[in-house]
Order: sequence, then structure tokens, then C-alpha cells
Amino acid sequence: MSPAPRSLTLLGATGSVGSSTLDLVARHRDLFRIEAVTANGDAEGLARIARAFGARFAAVADPAAGPRLAEALSGSGIEAGSGPEAVVDAAARPADLVMAAISGAAGVEPVLAAIGQGTTIALANKESLVAAGAMVMGAARSRGVSILPVDSEHNAVFQALAGSRMEDVETISITASGGPFRTWTAAAIAAARPEDALKHPNYTMGAKVTVDSASLMNKGLELIEAHHLFEVEPARLKALVHPQQVVHGMVAFRDGSVVAQLGPADMRVPIAHCLGFPGRIDGPSARLDLAALGILTFEEPDLLRFPCLRLAIEAMEAGGRAPTVLNAANEVAVEAFLARRIGFGAIAAIVSDTLDALGAGQAPATMGDLRFVDHAARDRARSSLLRLAAPAS
Ligand code: NDP
Repeated sequence: MSPAPRSLTLLGATGSVGSSTLDLVARHRDLFRIEAVTANGDAEGLARIARAFGARFAAVADPAAGPRLAEALSGSGIEAGSGPEAVVDAAARPADLVMAAISGAAGVEPVLAAIGQGTTIALANKESLVAAGAMVMGAARSRGVSILPVDSEHNAVFQALAGSRMEDVETISITASGGPFRTWTAAAIAAARPEDALKHPNYTMGAKVTVDSASLMNKGLELIEAHHLFEVEPARLKALVHPQQVVHGMVAFRDGSVVAQLGPADMRVPIAHCLGFPGRIDGPSARLDLAALGILTFEEPDLLRFPCLRLAIEAMEAGGRAPTVLNAANEVAVEAFLARRIGFGAIAAIVSDTLDALGAGQAPATMGDLRFVDHAARDRARSSLLRLAAPAS
């Protein structure tokens, strides 16, 4: 007799990671059952998903989208909720696995709620570890909850570590495509427009993470994520530009061995690893053909042309509340850039100004601390946005 399907709650179901996860679930209906799904404002998209996968509960974070969700689910027997607290309720429902794929610091509270229930987390929402790494990892440790990394680089490192002792690890390297501006001059990067930044060379992702990839802030956020996930100090963490994005992460050990994970640039690979863990499930991605690829190249990231990466590394080294402030300021700046209120070059300037003003201090230890620091940083970033921003063309 085959085992009962595992129950899965999907936070951020309407997004890019959410869609890739649902693609896998649709191929493995015998293995997974969807318990709850959430979105922000896309009530109709969420209702379609909830109906198609027979979810028991669906929630939108935006209260204004609540009536549309209730309407779209009427007659389905699926319970509907709205407001940020309904998303937290979704995360706290009994499930075998919660896929945390909300974008931004809005993901922290649902992740903590799922950990509080002792539910294993597949974590895509890197901002929750950047903004609240000590809180999230502390809660996971005290509840004995496993956090499985979905981010392809961290998933690669997790696989390369395979339970090794951290004292045997010399360095952990995560790779970056280098983004669409890898070969651009500093002046051209500073003047880049949203349509330029949204052209990721290898992946199709949500807008925020795509802009972060173009500024290399994404790699900085990922270094901070790795620092918390693997409990490794900043000096042992490295970012390496690797335009082909075939090697996603590697671990160098004290005996001189380097263990790397390779795979196609398809998020369904790390997601499938998390869904199947500790086993494996069939994945649909195109298989790697190294002979066809021929050459893999690597280069050091340029911290002068990509100041966001430098700022993130400095925030990681400073610790305390600096990463929380960095993350909040970056979210405000990226949103303003996407709305064409500022140029690309202003993103780093706003983050830098906000860190100078508010970066010193203790890491948030409670949701109250986190809200306080996050709001203060967003306010400061908004005011520096007005002062520093050159209007975008
Ligand atoms: P998307 O922008 O595509 O999707 C974000 C999801 O979160 C949507 O379902 C959105 O709902 C929901 N959401 C947005 N804001 C809120 C909020 N305030 N409260 C509740 N839900 C909200 O993002 P991605 O899927 O690209 O990324 C998700 C996370 O995964 C990010 O942290 C990203 O850094 C990380 N990640 C993404 C990768 C990728 O390939 N996309 C790769 C590795 C990591 P709605 O549709 O209603 O707006």
C-alpha cells in the first residue's frame, strides 16, 4: 500500500517559486496534498490554484482582496481568509511541510508561525533570514525544526555538505550569474532602467529578486542567508560570478576536497530536492549536458561596479540590526526603482544612507523589535529616497 500523501502548505502560491512548486505537485499528486495556499492581492489567481489543487484554506494578505477571494471561492467548500493574520493562520495549520515563498520581510511572521507548530520549512524567502536570521534560526533550533533551503545556491551547499562537520569546512562558495549588467560600465549600470534590470540571463523570477540579481544585492542577501543557515562566520563565505550558472554552490574542506552541486538553471531542481527530502522525487527539468556546454567560467565579483554586494557583505560582518536595515531599505529602493521613481544607481545610495543612519544596534529578538527596526529603516529609506534620488528617465 502506498503511503498517504504528505500535506503541503504553500505561502506565496501565486508567485514564481509558488508556480514551480505547483508544477511539481501536479506531477506527483500521489505524493502531496495541498493544505493551504496564500497570496498578497491576486485573489483570482489564488482561488484558481486552491480549486485546482483542492486546498482546504486560502488566504490573501491584502485585506482589500478578501471579498474577491471569498467570491471566487464561493460554493467550493474552501475556507477563505484575508489580512496578514490570515496568512499567519495558514502557515500555522497542521502540515508536513510549509513552502515559504512569500517575497520580502512579510515572510518572517508566517515562517515563525510554521516553526512554532514544529512544521518542516522549505525556505525560499531569503529575506526572512536576512531580516530576522537569529530569531528564525533560534526558533527552529529550540523547536527542533528542519529548514530546507530552496534557494538554488543554498540547496547546492546543503547537498554538498551532506551532514559534514562544520569544523571540517574551510570555505563555502555560492555562485552568481553576474546578472544582465555583468559587463556594463559603472555609468551605464547607474543609468539602467527597469526593463534592463528585469532581463535575467538564466532565470525567470519575481520582479524584486530579479532586480536584486541585477544589482548583486541578491548575492549579498544570500551570503547573509548562508551565514545563518549554515552557522558559518562571514570570513568563510564567498560569492563567485559564474555566468553559466551550472555550479550553484560548493564547499571546500580542510583536506583539500571541494564538493560542488551542479544542475540546470531551473528552480524545480532545488524545489524537488526539498519536496523529496530525505529521498528524491522525479524532476522534469532538462538534463545537464556538460559536453555541449563545453566551458564553465568563474570570476570574482566587482564590488566597485556592484556596491549593493559590498554593502550587504559589510552588513553581514557588522551583524546586529544592520542586515535588517539593509533589507528594509533595499525593499523600499527596489520598489521605487520598479515604479520609475529613482534610477538604478540610487538603490545602493539609499541603502548606504539608511545603514549609516540606523545600521548600528542589536539584532531584533522579537517580532516587536523587528517591526520597530524594519519600520524605522523603511521611513528613513523613503526620506533618503526623496533627498538622494535622481528622477529616472
Ligand atoms: P514573486 O514576486 O513571483 O511572488 C511572491 C509571492 O508572495 C506571491 O504569491 C505574492 O502574492 C506573495 N506576496 C507578496 N507580498 C506579500 C505580502 N506582503 N504578504 C503575503 N504574501 C505576499 O516572488 P518569487 O517567487 O520570485 O520569490 C519568492 C521568494 O523566493 C523571494 O524571497 C525570493 O528572493 C526567493 N527566491 C526566488 C527564486 C525564484 O526563482 N523566483 C529563486 C530563489 C529564491 P501576489 O501574487 O498576490 O502578489
